[in-house]
Amino acid sequence: MSLISDRPGEPAYFANLNPPQRQAVETLEGPVLVLAGAGTGKTRVLTTRLGHILMTGRAYPSQVLAVTFTNKAAREMRERLERLIGADAEGMWLGTFHALAARILRRHAEAVGLKSNFTILDTDDQLRLVKQQLAAEGIDDKRSPARAVLAVIERWKDRGLTPDKVDGEDAGDLADGRLVKLYGQYQERLRALNATDFGDLLLHNLTIFLGQPAILADYQRKFRYILVDEYQDTNISQYLWLRLLAQSHKNICCVGDDDQSIYGWRGAEVGNILRFEQDFPGATVIRLEQNYRSTPEILNAAGHLIAHNAGRLGKTLWTAGTAGDKVRVRGMWDGEEEARWVADEIEADQRRGTPLSEVAVLVRASFQMREFEERFITTGIPYRVVGGPRFYERQEIRDALAYLRLIHQSDDDLAFERIVNTPRRGIGTATIQTLHMVGRGQGVSLMEAARRVVETDELKPAARKAVALLVRDFDRWRREAERLPHTELAQVVLDESGYTAMWQADKTPEAPGRLENLKELIVGMAEFETLAGFLEHVSLVMDNAIESGGDLVTLMTLHAAKGLEFAHVFLPGWEEGLFPHQRALDDNGQAGLEEERRLAYVGLTRAKRKADVSYAANRRMHGQWQSALPSRFVDELPHDQIEAETAQGMYGMRAPVGRGAFDDIETSSFGGYRRIVRPLPGGGPREGLQIRAVGGFAVGDRVFHQKFGTGTVREIEDAKLTINFDHAGEKRVMDSFVQKA
Ligand code: ATP
Ligand code: MG
Repeated sequence: MSLISDRPGEPAYFANLNPPQRQAVETLEGPVLVLAGAGTGKTRVLTTRLGHILMTGRAYPSQVLAVTFTNKAAREMRERLERLIGADAEGMWLGTFHALAARILRRHAEAVGLKSNFTILDTDDQLRLVKQQLAAEGIDDKRSPARAVLAVIERWKDRGLTPDKVDGEDAGDLADGRLVKLYGQYQERLRALNATDFGDLLLHNLTIFLGQPAILADYQRKFRYILVDEYQDTNISQYLWLRLLAQSHKNICCVGDDDQSIYGWRGAEVGNILRFEQDFPGATVIRLEQNYRSTPEILNAAGHLIAHNAGRLGKTLWTAGTAGDKVRVRGMWDGEEEARWVADEIEADQRRGTPLSEVAVLVRASFQMREFEERFITTGIPYRVVGGPRFYERQEIRDALAYLRLIHQSDDDLAFERIVNTPRRGIGTATIQTLHMVGRGQGVSLMEAARRVVETDELKPAARKAVALLVRDFDRWRREAERLPHTELAQVVLDESGYTAMWQADKTPEAPGRLENLKELIVGMAEFETLAGFLEHVSLVMDNAIESGGDLVTLMTLHAAKGLEFAHVFLPGWEEGLFPHQRALDDNGQAGLEEERRLAYVGLTRAKRKADVSYAANRRMHGQWQSALPSRFVDELPHDQIEAETAQGMYGMRAPVGRGAFDDIETSSFGGYRRIVRPLPGGGPREGLQIRAVGGFAVGDRVFHQKFGTGTVREIEDAKLTINFDHAGEKRVMDSFVQKA
């Protein structure tokens, strides 16, 4: 790229900026806060600013600190920067908070009693440590599960609190009131192991900076410029870290959007945005208002939605872009139909020449992915799952599959090894080694070796008992496999093995999602006649899953989609209870709801040209078919500017074109449904007709409908009722929205 622009003496990269963006790039001295909505070029400003600093020789790459939210975002920023400056950005400090803090900690590890080659533990290791501690302290780990203890410790770390700074009051009655002590011991154990966890990376940096002013002063001098993307999602300890590092030059530029703060559940504090101006007096605050990403229709829909949040700083967003398609909202019969429809639309995109890399499906909960993956595989749409493994590659799914494989085929040693001590049942490495030896020696599988070994005294009594129990369990399950439907068998096995309980006791934020995935696994199994058929399918799917790069549809959670953009975005599962997620509402009430709404805003604003929202009338959410109601977020879209459609043939394939279950939504307000969740008896939609029984209405019944008020049932057909409403006149409605008066 040429560095000469039309205006002599000016670098070409300025040509790609509007005036306030340019101001944000050129205001290099002093603190700058860019507070602006989605798609206004915050990330572009940050990248250009970085380039500008380097191009004008204000700093060497090693004197700039740039923070991104993900490693992927860091890679992208580096690539763009290198194109901009036409050179390698070597030696630059560009990465996530964790990566940057780890780099600093390696250099000064000894200041916190570590060696520079310290290990960074993963969650499993962390848990093992905590469990050992609980055992050593004689604390009942049923009442104080290790995961819960760890979660509290992690929140303390997010807030920059070392054990000596924690207020014991905070600890509640977990771990018999000994939580602070445990935290201290946990830190000691990590040190003894020459290890840290993720939270420690920042925390140790803070300790070093505060305890050794000379080291801090070095970094303060070194980093002449500090740049931070996605500032709204920093937690306290990250904030303190930035504040300390920026103290000398105060050349810190943070960009963010309070409406996109979606990590409160992980300790992020949107208040950091508000505090910026206090902590950096005289900060230049720049607002960007022109959106370059999305059509007016998409912006309008997103703006309407987010306006329902109370706690906002408030912003204007406009676009000079030309009109595009309306945002579409579509009601579906169930999740399977939703996935089929999305896949069909993606194929239509392909025919129109849209690259698949410009298409994304953004889900609220990872269990939703399964149905899409299955559909994509069936129709041959290449896809990738970002920000997490594919459904069948998830830890909990692999564990569950290992149980099932082992029932199906007891020689499956890999499966055996995977679950022999998951959940923990006291079968340690020594025992497993013994089994291996016996297996190899006698030329039999591990399961058979186990069976033989327990007849002997090879193992210590406790281990022997544990192995015998496991063998007995599998024998029983194998017998049950012959009489139980395979979905029920799976349920029985997961429950009796203690596997479900293991995740129920787990208090990390991921645990509920894992339980949902396990239930979704069983939903997936129901699509096959036999366990063998299902396992065969899974192995094919897994095999298929290795895509060779190229043009792929992106499937990811809304949380992972932050900062990204796609021509066409699908937003499925907009149903009460799923999105907003019931858990967010239960745990955090209004604040939880607002964070969910910001997540919806993030989802919509990822779209450049097309956004498709959908919801299903029936969803198998917690292992049960539930009739679901459209999300209140659907209500909150500007319905005169939305194209609402109902899938043809919903509710029994005979619905006339243009009429269906959600007729009332098409013709008037989206308005105010209440959440009525009624488990359907038996199988649900697959058994089709059963839905008729739901509600049990009879002609002549007096009923109440949320929108049309009271009336009398005149006619019943499938799940549809014709009702003579006292005020609204005759309407056809879905029985799920009707209650007996
Ligand atoms: P988000 O809040 O979603 O992270 P953002 O504010 O960081 O969004 P960017 O991703 O930087 O926005 O920019 C959105 C899109 O607009 C990008 O495709 C970017 O290249 C483009 N863009 C930004 N500024 C301009 C401009 N001045 N002229 C043309 N295109 C622009
Ligand atoms: Mg951005």
